[in-house]
Amino acid sequence: MFEPFHEVVSNVTQNILKHEKETGRPVIGVMPAYFPMELIYAAGGYPVQLWGNNLPLEKSDAYLQAYCCSVARSVLELELIGGAKMVKAYAFTSLCDTLINLREIYRRLFPKPTLELSIPITRTVKAREAYLESVVESVIGGLEKITGQKITPDSLMEAAHLCGRTRALQRNLYKIRLEKPGLIGNHDFYTAIKAGFFLPANKYCAMLEPLLARLENRSAPNGKRPKILLSGMVFDPIAVYKIIDELGADIVDDDFANGWRAASKEMLQVENLVEGVTEFLFNPAPCCCIYNPDNDRHPYLVNKVKKSGVDGVLFWYIKFCEPDAFDRPQLMKRLKDEGIPTGFIDIELSMTNFDAVKTRINAFCEILEG
Ligand code: SF4
Repeated sequence: MFEPFHEVVSNVTQNILKHEKETGRPVIGVMPAYFPMELIYAAGGYPVQLWGNNLPLEKSDAYLQAYCCSVARSVLELELIGGAKMVKAYAFTSLCDTLINLREIYRRLFPKPTLELSIPITRTVKAREAYLESVVESVIGGLEKITGQKITPDSLMEAAHLCGRTRALQRNLYKIRLEKPGLIGNHDFYTAIKAGFFLPANKYCAMLEPLLARLENRSAPNGKRPKILLSGMVFDPIAVYKIIDELGADIVDDDFANGWRAASKEMLQVENLVEGVTEFLFNPAPCCCIYNPDNDRHPYLVNKVKKSGVDGVLFWYIKFCEPDAFDRPQLMKRLKDEGIPTGFIDIELSMTNFDAVKTRINAFCEILEG
């Protein structure tokens, strides 16, 4: 059932080149996170999400310190070694200091255009909208220049429906996983989500629909296995999920920036685009990188755990993501205070030996079973 998704994730470059040719749209590399893909589709582009890769890091060390996160280092490595030639331009958000500085590095090193959707740090919705008005205008202008195509109300509405549909299908996949633990293998699940980073949304939806129809008719396997919720920024490297499959644990929910936090976003409201983008960026799931005092991560996560009925929460830390690291101690304490077992693993995207990670996940599963 999941073979087509595995094929995409195993042959990313070939797939992007194929769809670039078929669609005739320029490939826009989308950096983490929450850049509304709708704007790129509406301008006639083909967005491809870059959440890091497992390249050995060599050239990027000349520009980024070893204590920068492996997401930023590995995407820079990809461009430096010429592995992203098909990407015509990059779309950034100001999610963290690393990404803000990464865009400056791209501007100095590469001739490709870059855009930035700057996310405000303000307390009120009104202030956010006031700030985002000029940001959205500048992003739209930049996209139209890159693609040579105007964004119209019709193209925007069509793109909003397409991306809204994509996330709705992903939410269905999340729902099935939650309601039928063990039916979907952990590695299969994250491969299915990851394939969406690289495919045109209509192609991706056409793959998800039959998958969901087949899964709807199946039951969860019998037997009790530890049920885990994962929390972090990026759910890679997906090789780790093969280990979790072997250990016999079920991930039934997550709080990843490129997982549920993105999939949970409703259709972008385009009648008033500034209001729509504001809502899109700040809701519904809170994020360590987004300042929104009205949407606190602590009660959100406790509530999510209780609703999903998981046995424990495993924090999935990509070294050295500062926003994630700053939030984690308080989050772990809050969960412990609620009697929810927690653990954490730290990971580099380029790692190839997972023995230590396996030991830690195994120990966590034993705690949950005990
Ligand atoms: S992993 Fe963390 S530090 Fe790295 S780009 Fe994402 S938010 Fe920024």
